[in-house]
Amino acid sequence: MSLSDDEFMRYSRHLLMDDIGEEGQQRLKSARVLIVGLGGLGCPVATYLVAAGVGSVDLCDADHVDKTNLQRQVLFREKDCGELKVICAKRQLEALNSGVEINVYAINVNSTILRGNYSLVIDCTDNIKARQFINQHCHTLGIPLVSAAAIGWEGQLVAFDYRQHKQLCFSCIVDQDTNDPVKNCSNSGVLGPILGVMGSMQAATAIRILLGFFQQHGDIHRYDGKRGQWLATKGVADSNCPVCGPNTFRSI
Ligand SMILES: [Zn+2]
Repeated sequence: MSLSDDEFMRYSRHLLMDDIGEEGQQRLKSARVLIVGLGGLGCPVATYLVAAGVGSVDLCDADHVDKTNLQRQVLFREKDCGELKVICAKRQLEALNSGVEINVYAINVNSTILRGNYSLVIDCTDNIKARQFINQHCHTLGIPLVSAAAIGWEGQLVAFDYRQHKQLCFSCIVDQDTNDPVKNCSNSGVLGPILGVMGSMQAATAIRILLGFFQQHGDIHRYDGKRGQWLATKGVADSNCPVCGPNTFRSI
């Protein structure tokens, strides 16, 4: 997929980087990414991937913009309250980069959407049921998955390249980690910029996967925003995992 003169100008700061260049930018242009959830994580993820020139970005979220979202969901404006998030986000993102194809689903994620021939799925949802559902489908379909969550001052990111690895998945890690933020986020609050940090990490990880640099399948990255510290640990495969374990029954 070749670049136009306008794209050479627009993406010049990528083209100057040795390990992106014209070939890398063409890879981004030919990619098709699904972002599930347009909250505090989905807003920065979508913004950076659209700005970066990912060719096709699909957005999935059934919710409407609420005033309480504005503290952290940076794609939305006061006048957007009451409107569907995906519609408001599409409008903002198209104004940012009209060269990117943006498709929207104003429904909760389902099997049909996940079967949309994606290069990558980015999980920005805030409930464990949706996260497990997305993981199960990505694992079965062999689609890379970038997942993050945040609560209070803390964030966590984990990514999987299911094209290359079938052992060790999101479900293994969540079951091992009783302190996983997604289990406690309902009424605990979150600092807006923590979501910006984690969403930006998701976007950078997504670009690494699309460019072919990703080597960190299942590594868990935790950010403590109060101390300004990162901690990375290796995830461990669970031999009894219902998704990737040897006794798995797949019904999808
Ligand atoms: Zn697993």
